[in-house]
Amino acid sequence: MKCLICGGESAGEVCNQCIRLEKIVFQKEWSFKTGLIGKAEDLRVAVSNLRISGRLPMSDNPKALNTRVDNVSHYLLNVKSVEETTYSGKKAIMVTIANPATKFTRYLYLPNLDDMAGLTAAIKDAKTKAETLTDRIRQQKGLAPAGGSSAPVASASPAPAASAPVSAPRPVSIPTPAAKGEDVSTVALSGMAEDLSEFETKIKKLKVLRDNGILSEEEYIEEKKKLVSIF
Ligand SMILES: [Zn+2]
Repeated sequence: MKCLICGGESAGEVCNQCIRLEKIVFQKEWSFKTGLIGKAEDLRVAVSNLRISGRLPMSDNPKALNTRVDNVSHYLLNVKSVEETTYSGKKAIMVTIANPATKFTRYLYLPNLDDMAGLTAAIKDAKTKAETLTDRIRQQKGLAPAGGSSAPVASASPAPAASAPVSAPRPVSIPTPAAKGEDVSTVALSGMAEDLSEFETKIKKLKVLRDNGILSEEEYIEEKKKLVSIF
C-alpha cells in the first residue's frame, strides 16, 4: 500500500513516519439526524497538518445524492474547496476532494456543524502546513515534492535529483537546510510527534473504558474534552 501522504511504501494508509509528524488542528464530534424519522448518526471530523478524516456523509456528486455515512481519510492537499451548502435541509459545509492520482472526486458533507468558520479556517491554515511538511517528508525519502506548485523552502538545499524513488529510505533524520525558521519548526515537530502518540494511546484507553461500560457516554465525552484541551 502507498502512503496517502508521502506516496512511500506503507503498511497502512499513512506510513509510520508521516503519522509521527501529524498534529490535529481541529476536531469535532456531533450527531446529526436525517429528516424527521431518520436515525441519528454520530459524525466526527479531524483536520491535521496532513489530512482531513472522520466519519461523515460522503458522495460522488455535489448534489448530495446517494450519500452514505462512512469513515473518510483524505490527504489535505487534495482538498479543492470548502463551501457552504445545504444537506438534508440543514446548513452544511461541503468539502470537495480531488485525487489527481486516482482521478476521483469526492464530496464530504458536514451538516449542522456548530463551528463552520473554525473548520474553514483550520483547513486553510493546515493546508499551508501540509505543503511544507509534505515537501520535507518526500525529500527525506528521496521522492518528488508534492506537485510542482510548491518549492518554497527546498531550493536552498542541494537536494538529490528527486525523480526516482530510493528503494531504501534513509533513517529519520530531519535535514536542516539553511532556510529561515527551519530549525525552530523541526524541534517543534519532534515534540509534536511524541504528544500525538501519547494522545492516541489515551484516546484508545478511553474508548475501551466506554465500550466496556466502565465509562458512560457522558463521562467519555467529558474525559475526551479534557484530553483534547491539553493537547
Ligand atoms: Zn508517509
